[in-house]
Amino acid sequence: MADTTLLLVDLQDSFAIITKHQKVKIDYGLYSMMISSVNFDDIIATFNDERFTDIIGKIAELRSSIQYININCPAPDMQDKCIELIKELSSLLYIPLRSLLNTGHLKSKQLSTITDLFVNEFTNHLLSDYFCFEDRSSYVPSALHNIDFKAHIKSLMLRSTKNLFPSLQQEMNNLKLTATMTMINGTPYTVYHITNTLEFLLVDLQKYLTGKKTAKECLYCQRLFFPVHRSTVDYCSLPYKETGKSCYYLKRHTPKDDLEALYFYAKRQQAKKRDYPTNVEKYGLFFLNKIYQEWEKDCTIQYAKARRTNNIEAFKNWIEDTKFLKKRLEELYNLQKKEG
Ligand SMILES: [Zn+2]
Repeated sequence: MADTTLLLVDLQDSFAIITKHQKVKIDYGLYSMMISSVNFDDIIATFNDERFTDIIGKIAELRSSIQYININCPAPDMQDKCIELIKELSSLLYIPLRSLLNTGHLKSKQLSTITDLFVNEFTNHLLSDYFCFEDRSSYVPSALHNIDFKAHIKSLMLRSTKNLFPSLQQEMNNLKLTATMTMINGTPYTVYHITNTLEFLLVDLQKYLTGKKTAKECLYCQRLFFPVHRSTVDYCSLPYKETGKSCYYLKRHTPKDDLEALYFYAKRQQAKKRDYPTNVEKYGLFFLNKIYQEWEKDCTIQYAKARRTNNIEAFKNWIEDTKFLKKRLEELYNLQKKEG
């Protein structure tokens, strides 16, 4: 197997990530924030890309013929061919994956190290005995196994939920994390030996949750961020891929009029209702996030309409009618159940 271990030295407020090639520092929580912001659909689409499935299929074929000959003693040329294909696949994966993991949270060196971790884990899945072409979870990196993780991590980081989701707990129960100690100038530090993307997530989440910092959700882009100057700031300073400009830059002026203030106020209030612990317990994050996203899309349409027609009252009424109150949530939930 490829050597995927990276060493994570716990520096009390951040980690030093040490790999064969480089050493880079990363604050607690940044990796989890990145995971909570990646676009899962795009990542899955990458793994479904024809070029990848084609090579993965070839590897599957080779593997089964290797096993057919003799699992303990495969023909060397076949094994070489298999490793060659895996290397080819990994190099195809690196660039699209790096771009998808670039959520604005990580600096270039951090992003490269984390992308390497993802690619290496993927490679190891392909080399492992559990690899199965039909079962995507046998080769997609573990931090991305479950689409619910993303929403769950977000609510953990916003501290709006106090328990681990059963699916995340289950994955974590299966981890075998190794930790050792190192002394630097007379001070002992814990060193975690990380072999996959989920182990890193576990350690990072734990360190973040036992720390003092609390992330906020940007009102403009919905990414999580750490407020730098004031805890009251509602917009992140993370760069946008396209423009490089941050939401804070785009929105640093106070709302330009009452209508815009109402628009952001409504979004803030609705997001609070979405994250309300009783609602999360009753309906689950997946459902709440889904209806919030649909509502938010409609809200933006209604806002544009109100601006066009200069009718703030109609917008106010729409906001009132669509608030995630008890009755409304029940209606939406029943509707979803009916639609299956
Ligand atoms: Zn933002």
